[in-house]
Amino acid sequence: MSVRFPVFDGHNDFLLRLLRDPERREEIWLKGENKGHLDLPRMTSGGFAGGFFAIYVPSEGDFGDIDAIMDNPPFAIDLPEPEPLDRAQGVALAMAGHLLWMERASDGAFRICRSAAEIRECLSRGVIAAIMHIEGAEAIGSDLDALHAFHAMGLRSIGPVWSRPTVFGHGVPFAFPSSPDTGDGLTAAGKDLVRLCNELRILVDLSHLNEKGFDDVAALSDAPLVATHSNAHAITPSSRNLTDRQLAVIRESGGMVGLNFATSFLRPDGRRGNDTSFEPILRHLDHLIEHLGEDHVGFGSDFDGATVPGDLGDVAGLPALTAALQTHGYDDALLLKLSHLNWLSVLDRTL
Ligand code: ZN
Repeated sequence: MSVRFPVFDGHNDFLLRLLRDPERREEIWLKGENKGHLDLPRMTSGGFAGGFFAIYVPSEGDFGDIDAIMDNPPFAIDLPEPEPLDRAQGVALAMAGHLLWMERASDGAFRICRSAAEIRECLSRGVIAAIMHIEGAEAIGSDLDALHAFHAMGLRSIGPVWSRPTVFGHGVPFAFPSSPDTGDGLTAAGKDLVRLCNELRILVDLSHLNEKGFDDVAALSDAPLVATHSNAHAITPSSRNLTDRQLAVIRESGGMVGLNFATSFLRPDGRRGNDTSFEPILRHLDHLIEHLGEDHVGFGSDFDGATVPGDLGDVAGLPALTAALQTHGYDDALLLKLSHLNWLSVLDRTL
């Protein structure tokens, strides 16, 4: 089946589902059970060309029922404790192992890519293309040796922080309404991490960083600036979203933003809930395109990591989203850019 607008996507948390239920990974990934947002059969039917697969270490401590709190804005959730290196490395290695298993188990239908050229080749052959991404660099010590190890495994993208402090910097707490300017910038180790990522041609993800950290990366990095899964603060004033000033900095660098489908970051009222239509997606996209230009916007779904609009449902709902964007007035050329061409362009210039 050929798909008109194959979607390459900036962020998903599918690996978390395998981490939590490793015994059943064949059923979850290969067979698909219509649970969560992603699996191989639904990716194929939804025209999902591939994307960034996050290695993310869940916090061990209990820091409250985040979902329940995010149902009722305003809220400000304290940052969880830092994760110790030894635990984080074990979890991250297990998740990298799951991703490598997905490639082996998929009989050629799914491939971990190390360059934009490899992603293009996958797109042309209908193979789903994965970028190995680390969300929150807890598995990397301040000596950075583990970055070389993960790079050798296929890592091509890393966020110095999730919404939690690391030896590299400070994430934003989940808060609404809130400015993203919530604390100090990168540490000396964080600056070393950015320099080494530039040298190894690993993408540095700005999503989850606070505003000072964002500015530190912007001042240091020689690569296009990328927020893989963030939205417009002018529409939804969440700590996780980007101000118009930040969007201008990203545009200036030739970078891009992947639109996050998480309802908490989409709805102007900041409320989490799947009783949400495509409408806030259209509003954020219009705003991002106005401020970034149409060559600097894509998708960063947060599938399997967030509550998405009911109109979308899961990855199989992507064609319905594309249809809604067409009805909204986006032409084919723009839809091709949003769905995958902009991601390919930024990865061409980064990896
Ligand atoms: Zn995230």
